Amino acid sequence: MMHNPETTIAAPATSPGGAISVIRLSGPDSVRIAGAIFTPRQQGFDILKAEGYTVHYGDITDKGEILDEVLVTVFRVPHSYTGEDSVEISCHASSFIQQKIMELLINNGASPARPGEFTQRAFLNGRMDLSQAEAVADLIASESEAAHRLAIHQMRGGFSKDIRTLREELLHFASLVELELDFSEEDVEFADRTRLKELVKKVQGITDSLAESFQFGNAIKNGIPVAIVGKPNAGKSTLLNSILRDERAIVSEIPGTTRDAIEDTATIDGILYRFIDTAGLRETSDLIETLGIRKTYQKIQQATVVLLLTEATDSPEVILESVKAIANQISGTGKKLILVVNKTDLAGKTHLENIREALCPENEDNCIFMSALSDEDVAQLKLLLGKKIEIERLTETSSVVTNIRHYDALTKTSESLKRVLEGLETMVPEDLIAMDIRQAIHWLGEITGEITTDDILTNIFKNFCIGK
Ligand code: GDP
Repeated sequence: MMHNPETTIAAPATSPGGAISVIRLSGPDSVRIAGAIFTPRQQGFDILKAEGYTVHYGDITDKGEILDEVLVTVFRVPHSYTGEDSVEISCHASSFIQQKIMELLINNGASPARPGEFTQRAFLNGRMDLSQAEAVADLIASESEAAHRLAIHQMRGGFSKDIRTLREELLHFASLVELELDFSEEDVEFADRTRLKELVKKVQGITDSLAESFQFGNAIKNGIPVAIVGKPNAGKSTLLNSILRDERAIVSEIPGTTRDAIEDTATIDGILYRFIDTAGLRETSDLIETLGIRKTYQKIQQATVVLLLTEATDSPEVILESVKAIANQISGTGKKLILVVNKTDLAGKTHLENIREALCPENEDNCIFMSALSDEDVAQLKLLLGKKIEIERLTETSSVVTNIRHYDALTKTSESLKRVLEGLETMVPEDLIAMDIRQAIHWLGEITGEITTDDILTNIFKNFCIGK
């Protein structure tokens, strides 16, 4: 897995299908290797002398026979994605042509690239830090406007810069504390304890709030899990169908897209929602009651937002009872509950007022009176969903963590800093405090890649596609 900057790597960068494919080369011999199989149309032009950011039209030939007409783009060190000399060959998208070109490149000295190797080189050559490299994979995988926005923010630097600054401030203090250790006989204090405490608290505040944003960031990246629960006949499948209706039409128009049969998803206002285990909603067979409860419980476990459907024709007491049952299950979990009082078209005004009175005012923001059959009402519910998941966080400038590796490192940073603070309060020996500061510095460095091991890199880049 070791990186050898002397080698030149090659891989197709586009997926099958389409009219044009791009094959990419990176490394010191890129232009020589491409030049060995490419004949420019421009008489007397030597591709070896091509400048960066230039495109050349010509033929790829194999043993004197023309394989394809192509465009060759040349990038020169350091102005390329990887920071190395690079070439991109745009050929016709036949898998035969691509395979042939790859063969020719390899025969002329290129090595097939491993997954993510181009991005790994970009990282190793200092073109981006590790969290930016990871964002490249997120960007490619992003399925909604919101996920895209978070990925592009991170790719353009995101919170990396903040992390690096905080890390340097901590480094400064760590070295002062360590200096004191060298002079331990003389009882000197280079590191101002009050300022150290302030700094540690500041860093902890920032890492905590970043870590806290992970639940939100992760949900945005993978889709917000929503559970629709309620008694049989409350209107769960009707509501789900109403929510999905508009989006369905769009999806079915795109050839080759198939909807996951188990999971229904919908993109509402740029946010991807996943409706959990909706297959059960359409089951007609009666479940024994205990099984029904267990299933509801499991669904709630997986959800960020729970839509509890009740019927407006029921008495306020019955509705309240359902609310209490669900509220009990989710209390303290951070999950959001939306109470849907459905079928308002079937209930009288006074009856609705009675329900409202029984529930409110404390539940006002969490509840909606609606009919699953009314498009207007469903639109209102969609708005409420957005409000519940705090969509506005996306427009804030503050950063959102979407990567579990970062979350993990942030949590560990925070734990180390907590020990530093405790140590400062309780006269713990200096060398132990210094060790905890070093630990925090280590974890922060892992996020941006100032500290890396082969294991970390292998783990990150193995999830990339080949050619990226
Ligand atoms: P589920 O068992 O919770 O999935 O309930 P369904 O979605 O199958 O709905 C049960 C019945 O209630 C169906 O006949 C629906 O057409 C009807 N229904 C659902 N929502 C409404 C509503 O808002 N108003 C009216 N009048 N009927 C509704």
